[in-house]
Amino acid sequence: MGDDDRTWIDKVGEGIERAVSAVGGAWDRTATARRDVWDRTKVAASGAADVLDRGIEEATKVYKGQTSQPANGDTDNPAFAYGTGPRLVRSPRGSGLNTKGWFQEAALRCLLNNLDPEVAEIPLELVVYGGKGKAARNWDAFDAIVRSLRDLEGDETLLIQSGKPVGRFRTSTSAPRVLIANSNLVPDWATWRHFWDLEDAGLMMYGQMTAGSWIYIGTQGILQGTYQTFVAIAEKRFGGSLTGTITLTAGLGGMGGAQPLAVTMNGGVCIAVDVDPDRIAKRLATRYVDEVAPTLDAAIERAVTAKESGEALSVAVVGNAADVFPALLERGAAIDIVTDQTSAHDPLNGYVPRGMTLEEAASLRAEDPDDYIARARASMATHCEAMVGWQRAGAEVFDYGNNLRGEALEGGFTDAFAYPGFVPAYIRDLFCEGLGPFRWIALSGDPADITATDDALRSLFPDNGPLLRWLDMAEQRVEFQGLPARICWLGYGERHRAGIAFNDLVRTGVVSAPIVIGRDHLDSGSVASPYRETEDMLDGSDAVADWPILNALLNTASGAAWVAVHHGGGVGIGKSIHAGAQVVADGSRDAALRIERVLTNDPGMGVIRHADAGYARALDVARERGVVIPMSVGDDVDAGANGDAADG
Ligand code: NAD
Repeated sequence: MGDDDRTWIDKVGEGIERAVSAVGGAWDRTATARRDVWDRTKVAASGAADVLDRGIEEATKVYKGQTSQPANGDTDNPAFAYGTGPRLVRSPRGSGLNTKGWFQEAALRCLLNNLDPEVAEIPLELVVYGGKGKAARNWDAFDAIVRSLRDLEGDETLLIQSGKPVGRFRTSTSAPRVLIANSNLVPDWATWRHFWDLEDAGLMMYGQMTAGSWIYIGTQGILQGTYQTFVAIAEKRFGGSLTGTITLTAGLGGMGGAQPLAVTMNGGVCIAVDVDPDRIAKRLATRYVDEVAPTLDAAIERAVTAKESGEALSVAVVGNAADVFPALLERGAAIDIVTDQTSAHDPLNGYVPRGMTLEEAASLRAEDPDDYIARARASMATHCEAMVGWQRAGAEVFDYGNNLRGEALEGGFTDAFAYPGFVPAYIRDLFCEGLGPFRWIALSGDPADITATDDALRSLFPDNGPLLRWLDMAEQRVEFQGLPARICWLGYGERHRAGIAFNDLVRTGVVSAPIVIGRDHLDSGSVASPYRETEDMLDGSDAVADWPILNALLNTASGAAWVAVHHGGGVGIGKSIHAGAQVVADGSRDAALRIERVLTNDPGMGVIRHADAGYARALDVARERGVVIPMSVGDDVDAGANGDAADG
């Protein structure tokens, strides 16, 4: 090979090297552009998949008859007969819409279900439960709410102020469809008297807890909580069972009516006193109470026989608690547990003074409210004094969340707070885990849908013995009122799993219509109520009301279907602030995301509220389950919001 050849080969080699390096440089220089193209392609592809998914979801809904247009399938429902005043209404059933979407439909059906005559205590007066806890301010406001919900678009939010619809705004598809504020007053004005003046002027309504936030499900709504309370008492004092014990209580209204069944579910005997025979008849009809005795003597005799033979039995008797409790104390009756759930929180509309018939009480209430209140408070003082007497005699005595102690104090009994409330006594440890009452309603109206959800829970939590026992008992013994519903206590890390499982049941057509998931306001992180949920907090923060407000804001930000903030529920005006939130499982991917966020964050509020107050169990739960608390007690403040503090 000559020199020329070699030079030529070297030049070719250099040329190839330059070409390779130029290609490499170009490849490197285009790296960012190529990554960008790749990222855009991925986003476009996933966008296309979402559009396709939504198309399929819409098509499935149309196929199942769940069109996004009002079906007007239930035009005969008296609820839609606007302007016709007081009437009995019931929720529509089935899988057709009466509104423009399932979130609006869920709110509509739950409002109407609250007023179903099987559910509400005085439906023609819009009173659902808990004294005068109402679903809407008056019948005109009710009509306007129903009409607004039927017309509401999927990106609008309806505002309810003390039971009256006051505005409708465009928000976004992921915002709540309804926001509710009931009975809230500026603290210096937060008295029953001021509230009643406003109520008389047509400016306010008492919303209790789930009455004005449209998620009441009848007496079952409190049953598991009441059952849990008696489980705790059985464990604390009676070797794990109430067999061979007698519980004395009063008040067989919407919530108090759960007491006799909760006692018999624990194996015990219950004597339940109510001044109103109609309320007793309602609990008999729904199997919450077993028998009614003709006289107090007959009730005691029957109860003692059952106690001696170890039979589980509940006996109701007509009477005024302020007469019956002292009478039984005086005769030294063999009572082991004493509590009360009359509507003591409302001295004018809730508690009947001793020494008068229901008719006499009704006329005095209208003619001389001040005299009525004075008599009711004096009677509550006597009633509460008898309970303190039972405590001194060795019985297990507790306040059951109706402010009897506070009103008895007003009535002149200075030792009213001698016995504790049920939350510090039995429930607070559960609240530390974000545990609380979680409920759901089958919008189809088909009881088989609730059976499917019960089964889903059994497979989801096979090791949760108390839950499995509860579901079995509830299936056997709970009579549905209105739309079929279920309640159970689940905590942080559990509720969202249940919610997503329910959403899957809807998506796959195992249940025939969407399911609404909600809760009582009586929950771990949604109440400030110094005589009840936040009584005797470790750090003295009983009256701090920032927590329920944060709870409502967080649930709104998390995409709940409707959210409510109320004042005065449970214990009366001036005594509590609390919030509630609902989500709707309609089978869509959007619903799954909202369910995951709301049902994680909402019980998470319970964990952080109790961790902030210094409860060791809540701090442990936060660390174990990864709830982020920036200034968690004992942790480095600078640990940041990345979970380090919680992982501790
Ligand atoms: P409700 O108004 O439906 O029923 C109250 C019952 O008390 C009625 O049946 C009435 O006839 C009876 N009553 C009134 N005065 C009486 C008297 N002197 N003697 C005997 N009976 C009398 O109320 P509800 O929904 O059953 O709630 C009862 C109370 O419990 C309320 O104060 C409510 O705020 C509270 N509450 C507590 C809890 C809890 O978990 N602890 C939950 C919900 C409600």
